[in-house]
Amino acid sequence: MVVTIPHSTIIDEIKDVISLSRSLNQLIQKFQSDHATMPQHILKDGLLFWRHRLLIPVEARSVILQILHEFHSSAIGGHARFLCTRTRVATYFYWSGMRRDISAFIRQCQVCQQAKSLQTFPAGLLSPLPIPNQVWEDVIMDFITGFPLSRGYFVIFVIIDRLLSLLILHLCGPILLHSKLLKLSSILWLNCMVFLLP
Ligand SMILES: [Zn+2]
Repeated sequence: MVVTIPHSTIIDEIKDVISLSRSLNQLIQKFQSDHATMPQHILKDGLLFWRHRLLIPVEARSVILQILHEFHSSAIGGHARFLCTRTRVATYFYWSGMRRDISAFIRQCQVCQQAKSLQTFPAGLLSPLPIPNQVWEDVIMDFITGFPLSRGYFVIFVIIDRLLSLLILHLCGPILLHSKLLKLSSILWLNCMVFLLP
């Protein structure tokens, strides 16, 4: 009869890293000498746990990357968002700067960058704008920019009355832009008054 026992290589790797980690070894020695001062720590099979989470030395970058890959990029990880990934990782592991490492790993994940989902509510159905009751009541204004400078002008100021679809175009230059806008606002009012007068 053959018995197959699952064997985790990552645990072996963590043990190897711990044996080389000076800071974690000092912590283990401190726990072994006086564990009463460290009530939230548990030593099990050579591995030190804090609040039931396995302590990983910060210098064990390959192990940390392997954990992040398993908990985020693998089929089980499913490229979950930061909060979900952090909760999963923090259930089993702890290392200093864990939050920063998880955030950086997800930000650099190519799959997450290529498949971003919308963060906003659905836009809903398109609905037409209400029809204005009189001319110049509802006006659309815009600037068409990006033209080469010609005779001191490089911007077209566009005004459209929505009811009549009346189009007014005015040229604007870099110096005259402000004064032109003031002048145009008076022209706009003048047009409005002409149409509104009985
Ligand atoms: Zn991802």
